[in-house]
Amino acid sequence: MKTKIGIPRALAYYAYYPMWKTFFEELGCEIVLSPETNKEILDLGVKEAVNDACIPIKLFHGHVSSLQGKVDYIFLPRLISMNTERTVTFCPKFLGLPDMIAALDTDLPPLLDMRFDFKKGKKQGFKGFYEIGKQLKHSYWAIKKAFQNALHAQYEYEKLLAQRVTVQEALAYLYEGKELSKPVDYSLKFAVLGYPYAVHDRFLSVDIINQLRKMGVTPLTADMVSSKRLAAQAQKLPKDLFWTFSNQVIRAALYYLDEEKVDGIIHVTAFGCGPDAMVDKLIELEAKARGHVPFISISVDEHTGEAGVQTRLEAFVDMIKLRREQ
Ligand code: SF4
Repeated sequence: MKTKIGIPRALAYYAYYPMWKTFFEELGCEIVLSPETNKEILDLGVKEAVNDACIPIKLFHGHVSSLQGKVDYIFLPRLISMNTERTVTFCPKFLGLPDMIAALDTDLPPLLDMRFDFKKGKKQGFKGFYEIGKQLKHSYWAIKKAFQNALHAQYEYEKLLAQRVTVQEALAYLYEGKELSKPVDYSLKFAVLGYPYAVHDRFLSVDIINQLRKMGVTPLTADMVSSKRLAAQAQKLPKDLFWTFSNQVIRAALYYLDEEKVDGIIHVTAFGCGPDAMVDKLIELEAKARGHVPFISISVDEHTGEAGVQTRLEAFVDMIKLRREQ
C-alpha cells in the first residue's frame, strides 16, 4: 500500500504544490490534499490556533486538522528560503509553523517537518528533500531523481503562471484535467496583489479574481510576473524587505505600475499580518508617486463577506471608469 502524505491546502501550497506533489509521487507516495477552504476548516483553525495569529495561519491549522486520521504523514516543511537571495527568508510565522502545529493538543499523524533552505544554492536546498526521502526509506539516487523532477515540475508551473494563467487555473489544468480558458483582455487592467494564500484561496479572498472578471476587469497577480522580471524591479528599491512573499508583492507592484501601466492596484491584505502593514503603505506610496494610480486595500479575515468586498470593488471600478471619462 502506498504511503499517504497529507498536504494542507494553505500557505505555501499555492506557490510550491507542483514541486511537493512531484517529489512525493516520484517516491511512490500518494498525496492527500486537504479540501478547499470552507467554513468548517475556518472554524477548526480558529479553535486550534493562538488568538493573535494572522488569518492564513489560523486557516493552516484548520487544514492540518482536517487531515487527521486520513494520512500516514503530514508534510509540514520549515521554509527558510526557496531562492538564493541571501538576506531574505519567509515570514517568521512560516519558520515556526512546525513547532506551532506540534504543540497542538491533537492526535495528528507524524509530521515531515524538514528544513528547506536554498539560500546557498541547489545543493543546500536538496538537504530537506534528502531528509524526507531518507525517513521514507528511499535510496540517495531515488531521492535525487525525485528532487530533479520536482524542480522541473515547479519550473513548468511557474512558466504557466508567467503566461498569465491564474494559480487556481494552472493547478486545475495540471492536476484535474481542466482546459485552460482563453485569456480575455478587458478594457480595465488591475494588479491584484497579496500573498498567494490570501489572493488564491477562494474562500478567504471571496473569489476576488472572478468577481473582478465579472466586472470587466483583467486581474493581474504577483505570481504572473517571472522571477527575472521581479529581480529587475528590486533594483528600484533602496533595500529589500526581509520576507520572500513581501518582496514578491512590492516588486510586482513596481512592475505593474511601470511596465504595464495598470489602471488600478488592489492589495489583498490578511488581517493580523505584521509585514503587510509595511507592504501596504509602500505600495500606496509608490502608486501615489506615479501620478496617483488608484489604490485600494482590502483586508480579509474570518468575517469577510462577499457582499462587502463586492460593494467596495464595484465602487473602485466605477470611480476609475469615471476618471477615464473626464
Ligand atoms: S506574512 Fe503575514 S499573513 Fe503571511 S504568515 Fe506572515 S504574518 Fe501571516
